[in-house]
Amino acid sequence: MAGYYVEEDEASPQEPPWLQGEGRLKAERIAEHFAEIMRTLELDLEDPHLHQTPARVGRMYMEIFRGLQREHEPAITCFPNDEGYSNMVIVKDISFFSVCSHHMIPFFGCAHVAYIPQHRIVGISKVARIVDFYARRPQLQERLTEQVVDFLMERLEPLGAMAVLEARHLCMEMRGVGKTGAVTTTSAIRGCFHDKGVRNEFTELLGKHDR
Ligand SMILES: [Zn+2]
Repeated sequence: MAGYYVEEDEASPQEPPWLQGEGRLKAERIAEHFAEIMRTLELDLEDPHLHQTPARVGRMYMEIFRGLQREHEPAITCFPNDEGYSNMVIVKDISFFSVCSHHMIPFFGCAHVAYIPQHRIVGISKVARIVDFYARRPQLQERLTEQVVDFLMERLEPLGAMAVLEARHLCMEMRGVGKTGAVTTTSAIRGCFHDKGVRNEFTELLGKHDR
């Protein structure tokens, strides 16, 4: 029927995976608590623009924090490195959004990931999925960086891996020191990337890229 639309907060027959089963119950519980925060702020929950907000926030939290649920870990298909490829594989400019553990507001930016394969290689798009999985939870940029390389080391057993993350933290921009546009860079190094020559090959490549 023309003009028919589904209310955003109505349960749709096919909920996204993070709102199924336990996820739905958690979203409802978060909504109750968020309503209490809003009442504490003396917001009028009867206002049409606020009325559905607790439910919306509950569902959104389950979405942006879906990396907390182990079952959302990306399925990583590895391929045997039959060609014996032994050069560096670099995936640059993977954008990510995360939420700061300390303040529960976003930090976001770009991840650059490199590894040197041994027996196994991974589909390039999977590297982005790994970053996304670990970003979708309350995080510290340092820990996110470490988790990405650890995952690669564990699953691929490469000769080495490295990640560089550049991010803006809204907890530094919207509040606190109020410094707009400051970029925080973190890196994590494993295996052969401890070798300065190997590391330079990667960082030089990043340096050439105008950001
Ligand atoms: Zn923070």
